[in-house]
Amino acid sequence: MSQFYSEVEGLSREELRNLQSERLRALVKYVYERMPFYRQKFDALKIKPEDIKDISDIVKLPFTTKQDIVDNYPLKLLAVPMKEVVRIQSSSGTTGRNIFMPYTKNDLELWTEVMARAYWRVGVYEDDIVQIAYGYGLFTGGLGFHQGAERIGATVIPTSAGNTRRQIQIMQDLGTTVLCCTPSYALYIAEVGNEMGVDFASLPLRVGIFGAEPWSEEMRDEIEKKLHIDAYNMYGLCEIIGPGVANECEYKDGMHINEDVFYPEIIDPQTGEPLPPGEKGELVLTTLTKEALPLIRYRTRDICSINPEPCKCGRTFWRLSRIQGRTDDMIIVRGINVFPSQIESVLLSVGGVAPHYEIIVDREKGRLDTLELRVEVSESFLSDEMRSLEELRQRLEEALESALDISVNLTLAEPGSIPRSEGKAKRVIDKRELFQREGGERK
Ligand code: ADP
Ligand code: ZN
Repeated sequence: MSQFYSEVEGLSREELRNLQSERLRALVKYVYERMPFYRQKFDALKIKPEDIKDISDIVKLPFTTKQDIVDNYPLKLLAVPMKEVVRIQSSSGTTGRNIFMPYTKNDLELWTEVMARAYWRVGVYEDDIVQIAYGYGLFTGGLGFHQGAERIGATVIPTSAGNTRRQIQIMQDLGTTVLCCTPSYALYIAEVGNEMGVDFASLPLRVGIFGAEPWSEEMRDEIEKKLHIDAYNMYGLCEIIGPGVANECEYKDGMHINEDVFYPEIIDPQTGEPLPPGEKGELVLTTLTKEALPLIRYRTRDICSINPEPCKCGRTFWRLSRIQGRTDDMIIVRGINVFPSQIESVLLSVGGVAPHYEIIVDREKGRLDTLELRVEVSESFLSDEMRSLEELRQRLEEALESALDISVNLTLAEPGSIPRSEGKAKRVIDKRELFQREGGERK
């Protein structure tokens, strides 16, 4: 068996650049001829497809935003006749309006290929039994993981999300070796399993592939300990393909981006200027080979960095850091920017609490913003009667204050009292937003 699912993962950087350049040249021609949306944008900037010769010329091209897709609802950006579209999926709608993403036969093939690579990267092959507990349907999670698992010849159990006890029963009865779902759902599965008296250490389960929402290194430790598995990070978004844009290899040190098909850049989200490798900013992706709805320099709003160092696994694709969060999830409290994932990381590193928390941002009329945090005490902390809850509460507040420079009002909640999630967890309740939406002062 070859080391990588696809040989392209081992190309030299120079070979890869040549391939990217060749594909970008074809792409600009393709969108110019087929998509009035891009033709107009190019014309306005006086760019002709012939001006784009090398992948480094990509910076001359305009950005595409989520708003552009929303403005062209439902499918005005389609680059092929509808009869060539074989599937339509949708974003999960975490932020604002739903959008549709169409796939041609080749687009589905591309998606299946990158998902097959993803499984191989974490050592999942045809002998494995893969339980897919991401939601199936319009959301890209379920079907994306499904196609890739079928392609590598694994045994697929398409449980979809939900029905957690049954999920665990199936895991035991069929001997699931690989679990795919959101990290928050993985934790919930562990918790329900404990209530059912399941000993995860004795199950054949050994790998988890988790994504679709931000999570921290500390959360990885928790999940690995509770489920007795190796947990790997997976990144993707519906606009680009779904899951399968980037994922970790066995070394768990950044997610290899499938750069032969999704060209990454990091920009300063304020100015749009490209940033050098290693610096943190907004991820921008170009779909180099997609047919139904290719995107040029798509602004993902996801904040992360790219590591260009070679990886021990031998794959030459650069690696994406953990996604800190989306520019839209960033909480700005009294001028300080915080991501829920940073709060999670501090809480779990102090200990004594479980990775179940809720962040409530509020603003009383004419007052400053307030940040309230509800986090569950861990069972093990509670069972040790000698320890004081008040002392823990203070320790957590101090740690948050010194790490993030924000003051919070932290409440310890009882185990099990914060709502669990079967899909993407909702961590932030922004009451300021509610106020605005209900026709408050600002739009
Ligand atoms: P949406 O949530 O916008 O409705 P998607 O279901 O396509 O649509 O979700 C894609 C988004 O999910 C990404 O842009 C990113 O913000 C988030 N996401 C996906 N995978 C990860 C991950 N591994 N870590 C952090 N965030 C992720
Ligand atoms: Zn690697």
